[in-house]
Amino acid sequence: MNECHKIAKKIIEFAKQHKMGIIMENLRWIRKNLRYSKMLNRRLHSWNFGKLQFYIEYKANLNNLPVVYVNPKQTSSLCPICGGRLAPKGHRLLKCKCGYENDRDVIACLNLLRMRGVPLPLKALHEPLIIEVRGKG
Ligand SMILES: [Zn+2]
Repeated sequence: MNECHKIAKKIIEFAKQHKMGIIMENLRWIRKNLRYSKMLNRRLHSWNFGKLQFYIEYKANLNNLPVVYVNPKQTSSLCPICGGRLAPKGHRLLKCKCGYENDRDVIACLNLLRMRGVPLPLKALHEPLIIEVRGKG
């Protein structure tokens, strides 16, 4: 079983267990958007997210879990708390004028939820649900 299968399986099992749907950034859209930096593109390619999304969607369908794609534009540029503009702070961190700061991927996840109209439990802002993913991708 390859890495993508394993990760997709983990995510689907987690979603099933917690009766959740799955929200993903539409990465196909990113590839078409030339304004995204080379660095981001390299990151996406190295993770092979397109393939991973394919597996996730496939397995989600088999399990009757809803899958929603959102436009990733601005998911990691606006503060999930106050909606203000985030400034980069170091390699992975983003910081807002309101004092909120977190990992850019965590912020992207929170913004995905917010874009879907999910009321954010405050706890989740500091203890986000993350399935840690490691491997060469
Ligand atoms: Zn803020």
